[in-house]
This record gives sequence, structure tokens and C-alpha cells, in this order.
Amino acid sequence: RGIRKSYYKNHIELPVLRGVDVAFARGEMSALVGRSGSGKSTLMHLLATLDQPDEGEVWFDGQRVDNLPRRGRDQYRNREIGIIFQFYHLLPELSALENVLAPAMISRSVLGYFRQRKSLTARAEAMLDRVGLLDRKTHKPSEMSGGEMQRVAIARSLMSEPKLLLADEPTGNLDTETGESILQLLRQLNTEDGLTVVMITHDDTIAERADRCYRMQDGLLVDRFTNEPSQDAATSPSARTSDQSPA
Ligand code: ATP
Ligand code: MG
Repeated sequence: RGIRKSYYKNHIELPVLRGVDVAFARGEMSALVGRSGSGKSTLMHLLATLDQPDEGEVWFDGQRVDNLPRRGRDQYRNREIGIIFQFYHLLPELSALENVLAPAMISRSVLGYFRQRKSLTARAEAMLDRVGLLDRKTHKPSEMSGGEMQRVAIARSLMSEPKLLLADEPTGNLDTETGESILQLLRQLNTEDGLTVVMITHDDTIAERADRCYRMQDGLLVDRFTNEPSQDAATSPSARTSDQSPA
């Protein structure tokens, strides 16, 4: 609500978000679309409480989260949401399985982790299986394709059973076909596992595959539309219906 955010570089203000109001509905797959530099990743970082707005509020599931103390923000981020970053952010020294496990390790005490190691490892393997990569579990990022790294990042984001998945350019660095398979995976997570998905993209054809789409331009939301549900979400980008009402 009313999100404003500027960056400061050499004492010069760079306004990036200039009053953004947006609501992502539970159970939906939404898209935030806009050109490079329009402020999409900045907004995602604010939604994830990785950064704080200059003005405005971020609410999740009936609770304001942007002004929580650090511990509360960490809990919100680690338990309620999954984040897929624009450039995967995998740790190069770790295998696929270890990458999936890493946040669970870091967010627990050493003792807590060792007590739960077996169940956490089993869950990490189940998540790799979910994204179709169990047979790559010992591969390091340098030994995987881009699409595979993206899948590992998705598996990692699912470890904490999040309610909301924030995916920044999930198909951005992938060829069309691989991007398509990632898109289908996100859609499956949405329909089969009931995950609310917000994907960020600069690509209109990707955005049209979401249930609802918000367009950003120069730090403002300039358009919102609802996509017609299609029989086969995998193949048909969709007629639009204009939607002026708030989500
Ligand atoms: P892309 O589609 O290229 O990923 P985006 O819509 O995600 O673009 P942002 O990453 O949110 O855009 O960046 C918005 C603007 O803010 C850009 O002009 C960028 O140069 C600037 N910016 C982003 N991060 C910082 C930062 N940490 N410090 C200063 N300026 C920044
Ligand atoms: Mg970005």
C-alpha cells in the first residue's frame, strides 16, 4: 500500500517506486510485468522484507510485515514465502541437494539441524523429485544446465512449505522450451499444491499465462488485467478481460 522507494547514489535520489498499491490474491498466479528498470525486482525485495520501503506498508495474510523487528521479518521470510531470484543465487561449491538444504541448515542451530538432518534431507530429496531432478542431486551448479539450476532454486524455495512463491524472471535466462517447462511447474505448484505465485517478468507472453497481471512503468502500476482461464493453461495465451476493480 502506497509503496515508495528511492535509491541514493552519490547523494542523488533515484526514485524507483513512486506510490505502488497492489494486492496479490491468495491461490492465484499473478504476474508483475514491466520493462527493464521499471522497479519489479525492487518491489519483490520489499514484498520479501529484504529491504524496507521509504513510505507505505507491506501486508501478508492479515499482518503488517515491513515494520516487524528483524527476527519477525526473518521468520516471515523463512517460513511463509519462497523466493526465486533472478539469477538463481545457488552456491557454486554445493551440490544440488546441499543447495536445497542450505537455508534449512542456516536457519537452525547446529544441534537443531543435526537432530533433524534425516527428515530435512528426505524432504530436500522429495523437493528435488518434485521438480524432476532427483537424479542430479550430486551435481554442482557448474554441472547443471540453466533450466536445471532454476529447478534447484525452485526446490529450495519449497523447503519451508511456503504459502507464497515470489519468482523473479523465472524464465528470463532460459530458452523458450525450458522456460515453458518451468512455467508449467509453477502452474502445477499453484493448482496442485495451492501455492500463491507471483512471477515477475519483462515478457508479455509469459505474463499472459498468469491469472492476473499488473503492469509496471517507471515505478508505477499503470495497468491491470485478468486473463481468461483456458482449458489448457500450457498452450494458450488468452484473451484479456479488462479489470478495473482492485484485486
Ligand atoms: P529488470 O527487468 O532489468 O530486472 P527491474 O524492473 O527488476 O529490471 P529494478 O532492479 O527494480 O528493475 O531496478 C529499478 C531501478 O533501480 C533501475 O534503474 C536500477 O538502476 C535501480 N537500482 C536497483 N537497485 C539499486 C541499488 N541497489 N542502488 C541504486 N540503484 C538501484
Ligand atoms: Mg529485475
